[in-house]
Parts: sequence; C-alpha cells; structure tokens
Amino acid sequence: MSGFEGSFLGANDKISPQAIMECKICWTPYDPAEGDDTRQVLPGTAFLDLPDDWSCSNCDAPKAQFLVSEDPGSDAMREAALLAPRTQALVADFTEVWHAKMRDVPMVNKLLHVQAVGFRIYEGRPLGVLIAPWFMNLIQLPDEGEDWSGLTPGDKEVIAFPSGDYEFLHNTREQTGGYKACSLFSPMGEFRSQNQAVDVASAVMVALFQDEHRAETDRSADIRSTREAELAEAEAAEPEAAAEAVPPTRRQVISAGLAAEPAGDAG
Ligand code: FE
Repeated sequence: MSGFEGSFLGANDKISPQAIMECKICWTPYDPAEGDDTRQVLPGTAFLDLPDDWSCSNCDAPKAQFLVSEDPGSDAMREAALLAPRTQALVADFTEVWHAKMRDVPMVNKLLHVQAVGFRIYEGRPLGVLIAPWFMNLIQLPDEGEDWSGLTPGDKEVIAFPSGDYEFLHNTREQTGGYKACSLFSPMGEFRSQNQAVDVASAVMVALFQDEHRAETDRSADIRSTREAELAEAEAAEPEAAAEAVPPTRRQVISAGLAAEPAGDAG
C-alpha cells in the first residue's frame, strides 16, 4: 500500500469524478454524491473540483491529505485511456483515406466526417462504431498482444453479442493493421448530419449488448431494414419533409425496431 503513502497527490489523473475519498488523519469520507454541507459544497461535486482551500470537515486536514477510499469510475477511466490512442489511430487512418481517395466519389455524404463512437473493451478487444462519409461499421480491433496482420481480407467471421450474432469481414490496412468490420450502413446518403449518425451509432452500441430482443438472425441486417422501413413510412406520411421527419433516435431505430420483429421462440 506504499503507493498511496503521499495521499492522492500526483494521482489526479487516476481518480474519477465518482471517487469517494477519505481523510487519512481522521477517516472522514468525502462522497461526491453527497457533497459537503459544512462547506456549502453541492452534491455531485467531484473531489477534484473542490476548491484548493477546501479541507476536512472534521479535522481541517487539507485536501492533499485525502486518500482514495473507493472509486467506481476508475475502471472506466483506465479503459478510456487505453482506447484513446487506438481510436485516434483508426480515425486518422480513415480520415486520410477520405481526403486521398473518397472525397470525389459520388456516393459519399459530405456532411459527415470520420468519427469513432462508443468504443469500449469487449472480451479484451476494442469494439465500437466507426462513422465515415461512405459507411458506418462496427469495428473490432485486436487486443494489444494480438497480431492480426495475417488476417485474409474478405474472410467472414460471426461474432456473438448479447443481442445476437453478427457477421464481420476481416480486413487489413497498412496503418491500422488487421481489423474486423460489420457493415451497418453504406452508403450514408440518408443521414442529414454528423449528429444524426452519431446518435444511431450510439444506439447501436447500446442495442448490441441488450439481450431482450435476441434473435438468431443477422442483426446488422435488422438494423438496416428497421431504418429502411422507417424511412419508407415517413416518406409515405409526409413526402416533402421525409428526411427531416426521421431523426434516427435510439428508440426509433434500434430498440423499437428490434422489438417489433416477429416473436418466434427466441430465448
Ligand atoms: Fe479529517
């Protein structure tokens, strides 16, 4: 435990906003969920956001004398730190493709740019949605120790998620190396803004891990057909404003859509 000897000092970047801290002199806790009545600190105030002259409500020990008691957010922070360089490299790679090769291809949607959405570690590997002006894919990257440089582009692999099985294609790029991609949308013409695409991508990352609507089908096809059905419906109802009328929210595109599919004996 000698690592915590000097309290949280020097470890500011290692405690999350949810960290519950403890005075190392008198063991009085500071819980961000409760704040600190005695010093007019509102509930929801992270320890790191306390004023520099804040001190222990019981013994007046300075902020620097507090230790981490419990930090429910630390895993998420570690994961985020791990993922950032990977997703940045991915975005840089595909942004280069965009500028070098795709800009003048007719099918691209120039309202969009390359963005990684909702990346997390799933079964040890980075997984998230990559948005580009010409596609939206689920992307899986290798774990740090894995070498995917030998993947054969075009090979198919079914990967299981709580919501069902999804077909991924193997691929490799010089910069990114080996990766696996499951196509969600391509082309991207129906998206009216980057925000709209990000909303859909975020919804996909939620729906992917929900087992309520699990079905033994190609889930990415479900997501696509749900959206197509919605567009058709909106177009029929209001031809002029069809595009505007279909903000692809989580509820509409994913949850409601998947919930509405034929029941069968899905378990
Ligand atoms: Fe104290």
